Amino acid sequence: IHPPLGSTVIPVVNKLREVLAKVGGADSELELPQVAVVGSQSSGKSSVLEALVGRDFLPRGSDICTRRPLLLQLVRTDEEAGEYGEFGHLPGRNFFDFSQIRAEIQAETEREAGGTKRISNKQIYLKIFSHRVLDMTLVDLPGMTKVPIGDQPLDIEIQIRKMILSYIRQPCCIILAITPANSDLANSDALHIAGIADPDGNRTIGVITKLDIMDRGTDACNLLLGKTIPLRLGYVGVVNRCQEDIELNRGIQDALASEEAFFHSHPVYNGVADRCGIPQLAKKLNQIFVQHIFKMLPDLKSSIRSKLVLAAKEHSRYGHMPRKPDHGSLVLNILLKYSKAFVSLVDGRNEEKLTYEV
Ligand code: GDP
Ligand code: MG
Repeated sequence: IHPPLGSTVIPVVNKLREVLAKVGGADSELELPQVAVVGSQSSGKSSVLEALVGRDFLPRGSDICTRRPLLLQLVRTDEEAGEYGEFGHLPGRNFFDFSQIRAEIQAETEREAGGTKRISNKQIYLKIFSHRVLDMTLVDLPGMTKVPIGDQPLDIEIQIRKMILSYIRQPCCIILAITPANSDLANSDALHIAGIADPDGNRTIGVITKLDIMDRGTDACNLLLGKTIPLRLGYVGVVNRCQEDIELNRGIQDALASEEAFFHSHPVYNGVADRCGIPQLAKKLNQIFVQHIFKMLPDLKSSIRSKLVLAAKEHSRYGHMPRKPDHGSLVLNILLKYSKAFVSLVDGRNEEKLTYEV
């Protein structure tokens, strides 16, 4: 129904990887951004991540269930390879059944953080192999709380904030700041903590969840337009599954279809359609992803140029040789071509054409 996360830049990134492999050297390794979701407990963080990946595999509920950071590395594979997950703590074991992935996340959370409500900084590392994803790292984090519950220590609020900041302070981290539409944006924990880590708002996207359960007669248009709290990268409003849907095992594709129907049936959202829905959020992430790669191109180009100079020197030591196209200039040509392509992609020109051409 919607393009998978990063699908429009997959060909570009793959080409870049090829180029990098040819140029050789881990020094020019492409550092891809990671996406962290932050917000208060039950704001919809896990739901948004799942919708972006297009699969059900995260524990979800009304209580605290994300109690350890989950580092989710998406690895793109060929379609024949199938879709499966592999945990860092269980190397070599492939989980083809995504409900077993959920069970193992729960079990592993309890092994480290106990069967109660405590949290732990120790990551759970999960790789998801799929033809539908783009190489990217997503991080699910515990939600912010104020009042300790169960056996949580008194400083639980501070502990969680520290954990979140340690992720979102990284300059390569894209912050999805999640705020439910049925709470006050001005009191948003997510926007507050994102503002600390990213004061200029260069890498924070506002996500408004639960548009379906707002007070009757109200809507989120002003929030989405940034009239309440402006945000440079803007906002996207989404509708995820409610708890009942999850208990009834409603699938994610089903949920995406009803999200679309929801926005269609509400005339107020027509005017802000480009800020509504999971597919728009995926598109926004794509654009940021492309911009990031674009920023890296000058360094990449100069590193290739200097390698070319070295190769030419070496070449001349062997004296005159019959002229044939060498690898170096081939690579440089490819790169220059793509750097032009990036400009038009970032400017939003020729997007369709570029997507499939490259
Ligand atoms: P997290 O604690 O931030 O990870 O939040 P979850 O994704 O686990 O969601 C918390 C609860 O809110 C779950 O019961 C979800 O089903 C529900 N929920 C999340 N997003 C929405 C939404 O857009 N609409 C509705 N009605 N419920 C939602
Ligand atoms: Mg969660």
